[in-house]
Amino acid sequence: MKLIFLGPPGAGKGTISDLAVDKLGLPHISTGDLFRAAVKNGTPLGLKVKDIMASGGLVPDELTIELVKERLSQKDTAVGWILDGFPRTIPQAEALEKIASVDSVINFEVADAIVVDRLSGRRMCKTCGKIYHVKNMPPKKEGVCDVDGSELYIRDDDKAAAIQVRLDTYRKQTAPLIDWYAKKGKLLTIDGTGVPAVTLGLFEKAIKK
Ligand code: ADP
Repeated sequence: MKLIFLGPPGAGKGTISDLAVDKLGLPHISTGDLFRAAVKNGTPLGLKVKDIMASGGLVPDELTIELVKERLSQKDTAVGWILDGFPRTIPQAEALEKIASVDSVINFEVADAIVVDRLSGRRMCKTCGKIYHVKNMPPKKEGVCDVDGSELYIRDDDKAAAIQVRLDTYRKQTAPLIDWYAKKGKLLTIDGTGVPAVTLGLFEKAIKK
């Protein structure tokens, strides 16, 4: 199964991917995670995208498409995948069509006020990338990852100024993909407002239909 997770930042795409991966046995491919790894490792790609990401803007299409092409050529993708955070523009969606045939696009609907609350409280593990929220999904011990005991941090793009840029960017550049995929009959829209277990249930129901 080849799935795309679409929705504003903070819609829960990463969280639901982590939960769904165990159940469906599909690799979770997050362009955000791939870019963050490149930044952390100081690769040439990482140096190019660091400031763009911190500001909340989008990495240029060519770089992003190249990264995804490379990732989708790896062996583990033969069983399918969950693509989280790609495509984010119409040119990216057009490029993806040339590489693979997508089964469904899951559109997570969440209001802006909830997005702001989720992103401003989000914390991430420095080592494994696991996502927490100070109120909604706190770790057992404050500031420490339950999985590997590493320190939790606030992403640069989860700071207030960047959150607004990301929301605006989403509405302008990514939201047009909702209609684009609806016209192709691939769109499944679910309410992403609830707690992760509820959203996971809605997702499972949607892909079974
Ligand atoms: P979120 O969905 O929470 O905004 P991601 O982790 O998916 O965050 O992405 C973080 C950042 O990585 C984006 O703000 C953007 O700068 C960059 N990025 C990720 N995916 C793409 C993409 N498909 N096209 C362009 N930039 C991307």
